[in-house]
Amino acid sequence: TDGRFAGKTIIVTGAGSGIGRATASRVAREGGRVIGVDISQERLDEFKAEHAGADITVIVADISDDAGVAAIIEAAGEKIDGLANVAGIMDDMTPVGEVTDAVWDRVFKVNVTGTMKLMRAVIPAMQAANSGQIVNVASEAGLRGSAAGAAYTASKHAVVGLTKSAAFMYTGSGIRVNAVCPGGVATNIGANFASSLGAERIQRAMAILPGVAQSDQLAASITWLLSDDSTNVSGAILASDGGWSAA
Ligand code: NAD
Repeated sequence: TDGRFAGKTIIVTGAGSGIGRATASRVAREGGRVIGVDISQERLDEFKAEHAGADITVIVADISDDAGVAAIIEAAGEKIDGLANVAGIMDDMTPVGEVTDAVWDRVFKVNVTGTMKLMRAVIPAMQAANSGQIVNVASEAGLRGSAAGAAYTASKHAVVGLTKSAAFMYTGSGIRVNAVCPGGVATNIGANFASSLGAERIQRAMAILPGVAQSDQLAASITWLLSDDSTNVSGAILASDGGWSAA
């Protein structure tokens, strides 16, 4: 096959929906071998059915669970060229004074711990190959305080920190680590407002949003960072938000 990902094995988490599905789809269409991960078997089956003939392995796994991560690495095999850490969950838009332990722990477990566990798991194969691309999906909420509640905002700032740490640590090793920060994107993630203060503050900030993007537009940014076209880029925190972050 031709294409930017011919001969490459790329793990994509959150492949059942939204930005992850669009990213996995683009990698498959450009000749890559996709290891598509999600907690929803039904969504993964749907994704796979849309791509007859493509090289896609789907794994039902929770990225915050060690056994799940082990199953993902096992399915990928010894050569892992790329990881798109896309899976993530929203919070309930609560300010820190109202956040529950349950929301805080759940959001950190998936968005931060899950992202870290998969990064940690792919590094050995990438070090052995002296090559590898990791792209984490942070958020506009990883850049500012006005895009979500305390838990999600803190978790996405942590994803930015993880990205920078790894980019710095592996400089010169052939491993590149970058993050994409989406603005608003039409997906299944949804948002519920459990706090009237949170709703009032965030909706005011949302008024400057440039409109809602489509998942394919995020897949374009993510696959650029996964591909050799971004060969000299590592540690970049790339806003893909239609210009929101310029405000
Ligand atoms: P989505 O809900 O449409 O898709 C996320 C997928 O991840 C779902 O299929 C879900 O089942 C899966 N998932 C959730 N928890 C998981 C886990 N523990 N293990 C494995 N899979 C899991 O959402 P989306 O909008 O496509 O979100 C993708 C990423 O983009 C997330 O990290 C999100 O925080 C980020 N993001 C989204 C927006 C937006 O406006 N949609 C904005 C900024 C950032």
